[in-house]
Amino acid sequence: MMTITIHRGQNQIGGSIIEIASETTKIILDAGSELDEEVPVAPQIDGLFTGQASYDAVFISHYHGDHLGLCDQVLPGIPLYIGEKAARVTNAARRYLHKPEYPFAAFYEAGRTITVGDFQITPYLCDHSAFDAYMFHIVCGGKTLVYSGDFRSNGRKSFSHLLHRLPCADALIIEGTTLSRATVPPKTEVDLEQAAAEIISQTNAPVFILQAATNIDRIVTVFKAARRCGRVLVQDLYMAEVATAAGETIPNPVTFSGVRVFITNGQNGRYELLDSKYRNTKIGRSGIAKQQFVMCVRPTMQNYLEKLSEELPFEGGILFYSMWDGYKQKEDVGSFLRFMQSKGVRVIDLHTSGHADAKTIQTLIDDVDPKYIIPVHTENAVWFQQCEGRTIVSDQTFSLL
Ligand SMILES: [Zn+2]
Ligand SMILES: [Zn+2]
Repeated sequence: MMTITIHRGQNQIGGSIIEIASETTKIILDAGSELDEEVPVAPQIDGLFTGQASYDAVFISHYHGDHLGLCDQVLPGIPLYIGEKAARVTNAARRYLHKPEYPFAAFYEAGRTITVGDFQITPYLCDHSAFDAYMFHIVCGGKTLVYSGDFRSNGRKSFSHLLHRLPCADALIIEGTTLSRATVPPKTEVDLEQAAAEIISQTNAPVFILQAATNIDRIVTVFKAARRCGRVLVQDLYMAEVATAAGETIPNPVTFSGVRVFITNGQNGRYELLDSKYRNTKIGRSGIAKQQFVMCVRPTMQNYLEKLSEELPFEGGILFYSMWDGYKQKEDVGSFLRFMQSKGVRVIDLHTSGHADAKTIQTLIDDVDPKYIIPVHTENAVWFQQCEGRTIVSDQTFSLL
């Protein structure tokens, strides 16, 4: 028997905490914080966040805060599992931000089964806007379960390759983020690369990009577009640290010749870091002004960009806005975009979702062929009612007998 309890994240997007229990073993899939939380507050789950530790393990599917934001509040003694590259990226970001690293106990690997008590858990690498993201296939007492985590089919990893490998299961816990949003077919990362290259090739003026540093696929997209147009990718130190942690195949200033790195202030040891690790690829403001570049920028860089614009006019330039559209409503993002526009820079949207569209969701359901579907990470769970021949579970607790 396997009992599934969705502690949080069933009829909402974010804050995912899922429990899978047998008679003798209890594990948690994702320990996420709420999307709008400044300081993550753990819900009352005895044995996980409070009291005596009574769970056997926590498996984190990927490093977005809504899946791992509470992992430093998990009681000591409960081991935290995550992918090794995901751990490196998220802890590089935390070090840069002077936050304590997350205390991961062990790393799982794609296709390698880990046994925890009654459960056999096998991770499957999937594509998402977080790097090194996974689905889990779980076996317990002859019953099987797949947890989709967050996924998509429009990135650079082959979705059909994943479908080929992922076994069927009796039950599927699946995300439905996009089901309450627009239904246009999503662009692929390759579409974005092509669009960006075409736009960049039409100008000699400066090109900027505003994106999440931890969206590693997007770094690849922007690097390829820049390279096609003979431009260097100029990363800020934060992105350089994250990209370097992601591995040598990801565009970063250490192993890629077309990538340079800059800082906007040298406080908190950042100049020392730049000077040691990136001695050969660091670039200053006047160096940037002499380059044909695509430069990664963020709202905190307004003063630096003001000075750069005195050396190199931005008129006719382009800023690719490469994040979720909703963030434009945030005050710092909105005023930054207005600042760039006041310098004569055109803001162009260049983004695609990190989440599966309805067709991709249906394809995963057909492939896993579950008897039971447990929708999570969605505001439109009723969408799943159309899946014929399957039982849609809306209870918070459900036993697979
Ligand atoms: Zn995610
Ligand atoms: Zn998520």
